[in-house]
Amino acid sequence: MADAMQTEVLIIGGGLAGCATAYYLAREGVEVTLIERFDLNTQASGCNSGSLHAQIPHEPFVDLGEDWARTFAPTLPLMLESIRLWRGLESELACDLEVSLRGGILVAETEAQMRGVERKAALERAHGLEVEILSRDDLRRVAPYVSDRMVGGALCPAEGKANPLKAAPAFAAAARRQGARILCGRALASLAADGDHYVAETSGGPIRARRVVNCGGAEAGPISALLGLPLPIEGHPIQVNVTEPMAPFVEHLVYFAGEKLTLKQAGNGSLLIGGGWPARWSARDGRAVVDPDSLRANLRVAQTVVPGLASVRLIRVWPAVVNGTADWKPILGEAPGLPGFFLNIFPWMGFSAGPIAARITAELVMGRKPGWDLAPFSALRYAA
Ligand SMILES: Cc1cc2nc3c(=O)[nH]c(=O)nc-3n(C[C@H](O)[C@H](O)[C@H](O)COP(=O)(O)OP(=O)(O)OC[C@H]3O[C@@H](n4cnc5c(N)ncnc54)[C@H](O)[C@@H]3O)c2cc1C
Repeated sequence: MADAMQTEVLIIGGGLAGCATAYYLAREGVEVTLIERFDLNTQASGCNSGSLHAQIPHEPFVDLGEDWARTFAPTLPLMLESIRLWRGLESELACDLEVSLRGGILVAETEAQMRGVERKAALERAHGLEVEILSRDDLRRVAPYVSDRMVGGALCPAEGKANPLKAAPAFAAAARRQGARILCGRALASLAADGDHYVAETSGGPIRARRVVNCGGAEAGPISALLGLPLPIEGHPIQVNVTEPMAPFVEHLVYFAGEKLTLKQAGNGSLLIGGGWPARWSARDGRAVVDPDSLRANLRVAQTVVPGLASVRLIRVWPAVVNGTADWKPILGEAPGLPGFFLNIFPWMGFSAGPIAARITAELVMGRKPGWDLAPFSALRYAA
């Protein structure tokens, strides 16, 4: 066996989770090495639509019900704290991340949808999130670009957007400035405990580390399985659309209570239209590919909610794989039965929550108490 590279902490995965964890450790003087099988930020963290969410996602609220929402609710303070961190990241990382926090609006087309919006808002408020119910007139005043068909909505002032092409690279650059070693084109092949250390076999040779952090996104399950801890982390292909730039007219992050939708206007004027519409797996090579049916449906919904989109040209649609868990909750903390092996897996909304999940993970790796009750997010919930 080739001589193993030694490091204090090995991070697997160069998306937002991995790059931010590397930064929060390196700035405390911890020796850290990050490996990424491709290049940094090429998977979900660089291909997402850049929404900064704070609220309970509406779709599972409807599909999984209010009991689910109550079990998800402990995640809300994390999301809110993450957005507080986002506010300071541009100066901390010395990079324009295009962070804009002008609020998120969930709009309803029917009175029945409106009742659901109100029930969700009540639960969110009970967990410390500021949410304002909007009547039809309020909605006209706050968001005049929304269709007259909409009967009302809810405004969550904390929410907004940032540029996913910039965030993880900015964390990585700052981590490097603090001495982190970042190795791209290095795939993890195997991982085994060796006394109080772990030895990782990678495509560039073995690495021996006292602590290991799994930031593998949709691949985090197979990575944990190398240590005998299979985790039911899902990878779902979904797609996002971007239009040509328009003069500024959509101020908020917009959601719809009737169908899947997120819609926002980026700093350059382009509209980003998504909401988790499914892409497909290619039969030829197993990669995610655009689903034209989803494309049409997504644009139809967007135009129903924001009629001003009718004349705008679409310039690109892309698929990418989002990391999911069935309960939508993150998996954070030291893995049960595997001292020194940590999990930083934030599903579905891991762009929004990336900073706080990484901060918490770094604190745990350094042996500190992060000041959060992490019991709801433990991998123990998967124990038989
Ligand atoms: C289309 C789309 C839109 C989305 N929109 C939003 C949004 O608007 N707001 C929001 O909050 N969230 C959004 N998300 C979710 C969010 O992007 C993800 O939850 C988040 O980026 C996950 O970050 P991560 O670093 O854990 O994973 P990733 O960014 O996927 O990074 C994991 C990295 O691990 C690497 N890796 C895996 N296996 C190995 C191995 N064996 N060896 C070495 N490296 C390995 C991968 O190559 C990858 O680079 C969206 C996701 C998608 C796909």
